Amino acid sequence: MTATAGLVVAPSIAGEIKLSARLPSTVPEHDAHGIWALQQELITLAESLLGKRDHTKKIYQPAFQENGPRLEITLDGAFVVLGRYSKVYWPTVICEMAHETVHLLNPILCPTNWLEEGVATEFSIYAQNVYSVPVQSPEFGPYFEALTMVRALPSGALAAANKVRKAVGALSAVSFQQLRTLFPSCDSAILRRLSEKFATCPRPQGTVPIPEEPYQSKRSPKR
Ligand SMILES: [Zn+2]
Repeated sequence: MTATAGLVVAPSIAGEIKLSARLPSTVPEHDAHGIWALQQELITLAESLLGKRDHTKKIYQPAFQENGPRLEITLDGAFVVLGRYSKVYWPTVICEMAHETVHLLNPILCPTNWLEEGVATEFSIYAQNVYSVPVQSPEFGPYFEALTMVRALPSGALAAANKVRKAVGALSAVSFQQLRTLFPSCDSAILRRLSEKFATCPRPQGTVPIPEEPYQSKRSPKR
């Protein structure tokens, strides 16, 4: 990572996008503007690495809830729900929001598959490095398992995910056969597992109504 005049650019995307990669000195839960700005940056970063998101879906202002982090699906889009530790600590906001931002690329009701959860976990680690915060990453359990499996993909998890999205669209839609065609040298047992539904589903089933005043209607991203 290189830093120039306050702008930090991750090496693999240098020249393509520039992020402020700076965290506000505010309290996250009281800084709706800062949260929205970060959401936009993380979407830009995710799209630069993993391909464009589904722009038919709206993305709303992230929320804070006790049962976060997770993704909330609305009738016409989705938004990130951050957990209690994010309320007061920006590094945790980065960790949680970056993970959920991968789910925002093609938002679906959970469960998604092991591939998407592993890629989301890897992207979260990547983003935490971009923002130079202490990295929080799973060391055991299903997210660690998912991370270990996606790291076995040729060229690494993020490049492999970009390839899958180019070929199939959504990470969650890929089949075992498609993964075999895309990554013929990779262990079939891992590919089969990656295509299967993820073990844990923290999100409630069902959609929520469209939020009344989407924050983005006031601050439209220039995309
Ligand atoms: Zn997830």
